[in-house]
This record gives sequence, C-alpha cells and structure tokens, in this order.
Amino acid sequence: MNERQIIDLLRTMTAADAPDLLQGIGDDCAVIRKNRQQSWLVTMDTLVESVHFDRSWHPPDKLGRKVISVNVSDIAAMGGTPVFVFLSLGLPAGFEVRWLTQFSRGMADACREYHCLLAGGDTVRSPSGVLVTVAVLGEMQTNRVVFRNGARVGDSVWVSGSPGRAVAGLELCRIGREDDPAFAELVEAHLNPQPRLQLGRWLAWNRLVHAMMDLSDGLATDLAHICTQSEVGAVIDPNGLRADRSLAAAAIMLHKDPGQWMLTGGEDYELVFTAAKRKSAAIVELAEKLRIPVARIGRIDDKQGVRTLQFPSGRNHPVEVDITFSGYDHFPGQEEDQPFRSGKL
Ligand code: ADP
Ligand code: MG
Repeated sequence: MNERQIIDLLRTMTAADAPDLLQGIGDDCAVIRKNRQQSWLVTMDTLVESVHFDRSWHPPDKLGRKVISVNVSDIAAMGGTPVFVFLSLGLPAGFEVRWLTQFSRGMADACREYHCLLAGGDTVRSPSGVLVTVAVLGEMQTNRVVFRNGARVGDSVWVSGSPGRAVAGLELCRIGREDDPAFAELVEAHLNPQPRLQLGRWLAWNRLVHAMMDLSDGLATDLAHICTQSEVGAVIDPNGLRADRSLAAAAIMLHKDPGQWMLTGGEDYELVFTAAKRKSAAIVELAEKLRIPVARIGRIDDKQGVRTLQFPSGRNHPVEVDITFSGYDHFPGQEEDQPFRSGKL
C-alpha cells in the first residue's frame, strides 16, 4: 500500500460531510467556512528525525524555521495568510536543552516573519529521535481560495524558483559538504526552505491562476495531483526548466542528472500553478515586482498523466515520456520501485 492508497483508505473509512467543510482531505489545506466572506485554512505536517532531517547536520534553529515554513507553504499554496500555529513535540530522553533552545528560537523567528502565533500543542517523550508535528491555521477570503482541481486545458504550467535545489542540498549534506561555500544556496534550500507566501497570496488575490499547490514530493508527482484532481494532463518542456549554475555544478560533482533533480526532487516548497495564457504578462510582472523568479514550464492538455518532452538524437520531433508519480512516497508499493531519489533522507 503506498502513501496515496493509505490516505484514500482513511478518507473512505471516515467519509464525512459538513456544510462548512468546503474542502476536506485532498488539497494542501482543509478549507472551513469562518463567516460569510472568509474561511479558515488548516494544514499539518510532521517532520521525523532520520526521515526528514538528520540532527548531525541540521542546525536546530534552521530546523525550527523549517517546521513552520513547510506548513506556511501549504497556506501559500491556497493563497492564504497564516495566523495561528500548534506544535506537537516528541523528544528523546536526555535531549539537550541547548538544542531545544535554538530550535525554539528558529521557530519563534519564523513565526515573527510570517506574522503567526504559537497558540498550543503537546509535548511527549519519544522512544527514539525527535518528532515534530506542526499545524497552522490560516485565513483567506473564500471566493479567492485556489484549489488543486481548477486546471483547464490550454493553461500554461508555471513554477517558482528552481526546483531540485533541496534534493541537491540534501545530497551535499549526506557527503559532508554542508559547509562548502560554493553550494551554500543548495544546502540552504534543504535546511531552511523559503515558502512563497507573498507570491501565492498575490496570485490568488489577483485571480491570476486556476490551480496551485506547493512542491513537497517533487514537481512530477505534485503536478500529477493537480492533473488528477482537475481531470486533465500536463506536458513539461524541459527547456523551460533550466538548472542554475550551482545546481548544474553540484550535479556534475555528484554524477547526477540535474534534469531528474528538477523533475523529481522533493521538499522544494516552491509553488506550481496553472494559468490562462492571457495572464502570462501579469504573472511575469507580479513576479518581477516581488523579485521571485517564475518560469513557464509546460501546458495543460486533455491526455492522461504528466509527460515530459525528450529529444532523441536523429529524430526531428520530440517524444513524450510519462513521468507521473515519480517523486517521493513514504510507503512505495513493493512492486513499484522509486526511480529517483527525492528530497527526503
Ligand atoms: P501536503 O504535501 O500538501 O502536506 P499531503 O500529501 O501530506 O499534502 O496530504 C495530501 C492530503 O491528504 C491533504 O489534504 C492532507 O490533509 C491529507 N492527509 C494526509 N495524511 C492524512 C491522514 N493521516 N489523515 C487525514 N488526512 C490526511
Ligand atoms: Mg502541499
């Protein structure tokens, strides 16, 4: 049973309907009506030692920031604003007070930056390793919330920033190059990702996009969720996805394909979104104003799955190759090998 099948089982077994639950399981946040105009956005993410982070290379203050940032990223993916934070912390016996103090400082810094407040939580002893679950409550004008299921045939597919950096940073940490100044940006993308809160908010507020989500499991997998839920397909043109200089340099050093990193690496917390072609100029203008790079990487069509273009030598035309669900799964099926490493340990 893979991760999606587990979530589907939970959804089927506990199917619930309530008039104020505008979006339940299946999107980046649940959407719950707050009043006539506004909704609460609710999201929760868990980070587990040895699965999501390694204390030997992850500075505690950056980990504290990251547990907030990955949740704020889900709020950004719906176009909302974070308001309250809840923290459940599992600590092993004999944890260091210094570690906890620095972790808390990182969390507090991130909360200050995103203007949200720690409002509650739970503290328990963990049999082994640190376990952090954070839930964030955000708010949003209901009629401007952006869901995963709004992509339309003919839309352009866009992505912010440079996907693939976080998995490259992780690989560098794994070989002990976390302090190499040549790769500082990549390592930082893994240790301390920056959620695209402003971009998500403005895209939604200006009604520039039809569907949006954040990248946690890899571009191919996450875009596949938009496609499945919107009942469309997507084709990615790799010419739109250019590796920046440090990603290309790290790929050469580690004998990896930067294209695979960009398509399948996890934990980038960038935004992937689809928009009508006529909105392209407005999207570029907004991104320039916010100083956030965005790239148009493909289009939505009516064929199934997410495909990428390959250009075989000796052929005049590119061929489409299926890459649906080739990112990270916490419970990959026995028979389905994960083809590429993603951004988790
Ligand atoms: P994201 O990567 O955006 O945090 P996930 O892939 O973790 O989203 O989850 C996809 C959807 O499934 C979300 O709507 C999430 O709330 C829901 N979900 C995941 N795990 C569970 C669970 N154990 N119980 C109920 N809903 C879950
Ligand atoms: Mg998400």
